Amino acid sequence: MEGQDYIQKEMGSSFVNMNESSFAIEGQGRCNSMKATLLHEPFLTVADICDGFVYNELESKGIFGWGGRLTIQPEYQRNYIYADGKKDVAVVDSLLKGYPLGLLYFVKTAEGRYEVLDGQQRITSFGRFVRGKFPIIDDDGMPKWFDSLGADRKKRLLESKLTVYVCEGEREEIREWFKTINIAGVPLVQQELLNAIYSGPFVTAAKAVFSNSGNSDMQRWKNYVRGNERRQDILEAALGWVARGRDNIEAYMGRHIGDASCQELQAYFNSVIDWIDGVFKGVKDEMFGLEWGELYEKYHANAYNADALWRRVEELYEDDCVTAKKGIFEYVLGGEMDTKLLNVRVFSKKDAKTVYAKQTAAAKKKGVSNCPLCAVGHEAGSTRIWTFGEMDADNVTAWSKGGATDISNCQMLCRTHNRAKGNR
Ligand SMILES: [Zn+2]
Repeated sequence: MEGQDYIQKEMGSSFVNMNESSFAIEGQGRCNSMKATLLHEPFLTVADICDGFVYNELESKGIFGWGGRLTIQPEYQRNYIYADGKKDVAVVDSLLKGYPLGLLYFVKTAEGRYEVLDGQQRITSFGRFVRGKFPIIDDDGMPKWFDSLGADRKKRLLESKLTVYVCEGEREEIREWFKTINIAGVPLVQQELLNAIYSGPFVTAAKAVFSNSGNSDMQRWKNYVRGNERRQDILEAALGWVARGRDNIEAYMGRHIGDASCQELQAYFNSVIDWIDGVFKGVKDEMFGLEWGELYEKYHANAYNADALWRRVEELYEDDCVTAKKGIFEYVLGGEMDTKLLNVRVFSKKDAKTVYAKQTAAAKKKGVSNCPLCAVGHEAGSTRIWTFGEMDADNVTAWSKGGATDISNCQMLCRTHNRAKGNR
């Protein structure tokens, strides 16, 4: 079973060779080969780590978890210092709010055995909370223990996914490497870690463009790209676009590690940005953070009339049946076919019930089905009276053909006929 309960995602070419990727540590002559792999699919969760979590308040070391596979506090680690009713509570609060906990590092000590290299304080915090060692303070100012959380909040906490890197190699080597990348104890985000691992001329060139607050294009880019250049979010987006997806960033960086420039990356990013600028004549808040790389790949070969396209964007913004404004851009790029992108508002239950009552009473009087499409058929169903639960509200005139989402345009259809009609 060991090793099968997760898939290791190799970082680049499987071995991070310190000499090649500028992790050469001064004064160390030995050839180092340290491997760092992302624990992936399925991600470890808080519940997995809490399986068999043991915490001895007196000794506060030798803490175990993950069904005995993980030593949370090895001998050389500092003792647990988060138990101050603030840092430990903050860890649990952020998990409950769905924020990521940051990167965790484990060292593989034997097949299926791990030690925590970094993340001990965070892991011990949620482990002790789940074991009922301390309460958090709820919005109403009252202390809340794990047992008194509602089922949904318990579930959210326990199912929180953890980003874990497993390091393999000589212990000293790993600790040195870790010191090198963990500058002054500031936790690294994913892209910062990748920049450290793949550091070289390519990363240096890419950072000069995409992580540079002094870059005069940065403001324009940030109309479309979410994040903070100093935390490498813009670089991450650019790499994700050129690599055709964030999952391919590592492989892309591995291939280009020795490139003297980042020409391809920059050219591709500029093509996407120029395409957005050319196709859309204005800027809307909802354009920020869309998957523009994907949209570019899908639609850049099409010809658009930019004036007409922007007019449609504005009209759709004005239409209060459109509840997903973010979807407008792909909707118009795709020729206004996929109304699902817009999450068009449907009739309220109250309106549907009103129409159902009226329609059913009229049908009973006539002795026909209360589904108008069943009623015109010749089968046995043509006189069937459906219950409210067996019917769906439908736009007589589809929204995409100008039909309103008010009661005058509402009819009740049986499920089968409504599905057959499709198009809202
Ligand atoms: Zn029907």
